[in-house]
Order: sequence, then C-alpha cells, then structure tokens
Amino acid sequence: MSSARSGSRKASGPGTARSDADRRRDAAIANSVAQWFTEHARELPWRDLPPGERDPYRVLVSELMLQQTQASRVAERYPVFLARFPDARALADADEEDVLALWSGLGYYRRAKHLHAAAKAIVERFDGEMPRDPKELRSIPGVGAYTAGAIASLAFDLPEPAVDGNVTRVFLRLLGEPLSLNTPASQQLASEAARVVLTSSAEGGVGPGLVNEGLIELGATICTPRSPSCERCPLAGLCVAKRVGLTETIPAPKKAAPKKTIHALAVLAIDAAGSRLVERRGDSGLWAGLWQAPTIESPEPIDPATARPGGVAPGEPIDEFVHETTHRTIRFIVCAPAPGKIKPSTGALWKPPAEIERLGLSSAQRRILLNAGLTSPPED
Ligand code: SF4
Repeated sequence: MSSARSGSRKASGPGTARSDADRRRDAAIANSVAQWFTEHARELPWRDLPPGERDPYRVLVSELMLQQTQASRVAERYPVFLARFPDARALADADEEDVLALWSGLGYYRRAKHLHAAAKAIVERFDGEMPRDPKELRSIPGVGAYTAGAIASLAFDLPEPAVDGNVTRVFLRLLGEPLSLNTPASQQLASEAARVVLTSSAEGGVGPGLVNEGLIELGATICTPRSPSCERCPLAGLCVAKRVGLTETIPAPKKAAPKKTIHALAVLAIDAAGSRLVERRGDSGLWAGLWQAPTIESPEPIDPATARPGGVAPGEPIDEFVHETTHRTIRFIVCAPAPGKIKPSTGALWKPPAEIERLGLSSAQRRILLNAGLTSPPED
C-alpha cells in the first residue's frame, strides 16, 4: 500500500508493482493490527471462534445485524435469533412474520427480509452450505461487497477486503487522503489498500480474517469519526494524517441531505376484550411488512376530522410524539376512536396485546400499541 495523495503514487493493488518499502509497510500494518486485535478485541457473542474459523452462516447473521446498529444492541438480539434459527435451513423454513418479530428492536427491517431471502437462496442454490467463493457469495440476496468480504475472511480466512465506513476512514487517514467517506473514490481506494495489506498478511502467515476484523474493530473503537484515540492506535507510527495533523479534517465532511418530515396519524382502537386493531404495512418502503395501529402518513399535516386510518374515524388525540430515523422526522399524532361500533376496513384485524408483542413492530408502533418506550435505534 502506498500513498494516493494527489500528485503522488496511486495505492498499489495486487497486480501492480510494489516497492520493498511498500511491502514492509503493508506487513507492518497487518502485523500491528493483528497483534493489537489479539490483545484488545471486545468480547462479543459472534466472536466465539477465532476469525478465519467461524460458521459462515453466523457471520452472515451478525454482519447484517451490525449494519447501522450498535454492537451492544446486536449482542442482545444475536443469541436469541440464532437460538431460533441456528442454520440457513431453519431460517429458510421460517415464516417471514417470525423473522421480523425476532428482528424487532434492531431497526432497518429490510435487512431481516434480505437475510430471510439469503437463507432461501443458500438452501436452494447451495444445498444449505455457504459458498467460499466471493463471487458466489455476492450472488446471494443482501450480500454486497462488504458482507461477502467479511464472510470470506472471517469464515474461510481468505484475503478479501471487508471495507465498511469505519475501515474506509482508517485507510483515508492512514494514507492522508482528504476524501469524503462513502464515495466511489474513497471506497475503491480503501478496498485496494485493504487488499494489498491482507495479501501481505496471508503471505506473512498472519490470518487475513484476524487482520480484517482488527481493522473493523480499530475503526469502530479507536479511529473514530471525531477525536480518534491516536495515542492508543497501533498504526500511529505509520499514519500520515496523524503525522501532518489532519486527523480531524480527514475524511472530508459530506454535505448531509436534509431529513424528510412525515406526518403520521394513528388510531389506537381497543375493543371490550382489550384487543387492539392492527394492520400490516405494504411490502416496500419504510417499515415494510411490519404491523401497526391503522396509520395514515403524509408530507402535510393530517386533519383528524376527515382522515380515516384503516377506515376508522380517529376521535380525540391521546398522544403526540416525534420519531427520528436516519433519513426522516416522523411527527405522530395518536387518536382514540369514540367507544361504540368500530367498522375497520378490510385488512385490519383485532389482536390481543400478548399476540401483538410477538409481531414485527417498529419502536414507534410498539409505543402506540403496547405503551412501550422509544428505545430503538434509527429505523429506515
Ligand atoms: S493514528 Fe489516529 S488517525 Fe491514524 S489510524 Fe490511528 S487512530 Fe486513526
């Protein structure tokens, strides 16, 4: 790996010539990260075996759960999910309802649907066994370059990059490249740099899985977006950004897209037996496939006098709150219909709270239907 700073050499790839100095640097990065990770890795439930020796299905589950969700929250849900779906066949055979219910609290429910589709593909196309080949891994629904690299390296110890935003940030700083994160240029640069480091580690007898997971951990815990802990970093002596004082300005800031505001009017209809009226959301868009109290959403404020969520006249407001997701601000008004005959539209069902608890619900709808707090991560 060599600096790709403007006007200097491009990052070398496996097919390009590398100088002895580059090779020594690649080896130093691999060795330093591997040693640091061996000594400082956090204990997490998906790290039950050393990197390079793990069950590929379990790597798939943990990696999909970890996308956009804090490790501490995944640590709570991962063992529960695996107890119910211990392998690809068990997950492939499950009802989507059950999969979404066990995903509750992790947010970004599209990932649960992708994981379910992935399990079906693994059973149908690979007889229930995850393939080793990164190209075949990428042919599985929901498995992109990062996840394929994570599975190939953490399960099969192959020198495949697994470059997420954290790892990209590490390489941008290491190389002193003032690019923004999540751009094609920065991802390509980080991916090429990671590949030469991993190839170097494999040649030197250091497991690529160990180095990959070390890089991921370093980006998550040491080389953080703000105030990186350079004094504790195993790469401090090799880092261009640290040497020239650019750790706070690399990566370059990216202009955030403004959040969309959505107005939502929900009705909490409860019958004489205590059952609540619920409906299932559509198969695409926000919270696809999850259950909810009948709810109408609009970019404009909704007039309860004329709106009819689920065919029900909303009645008096009983709650009002704002729910933030990564890309949206959702302003909820919750109404209670007047007692008496409620004639819901087709598709809405009465269900008791014990049954609702087992359904896939967003945390906003959990608050509405079960009076539970909003404690979940951003959901989109
Ligand atoms: S020295 Fe600092 S900026 Fe450089 S890789 Fe380590 S933590 Fe990141």
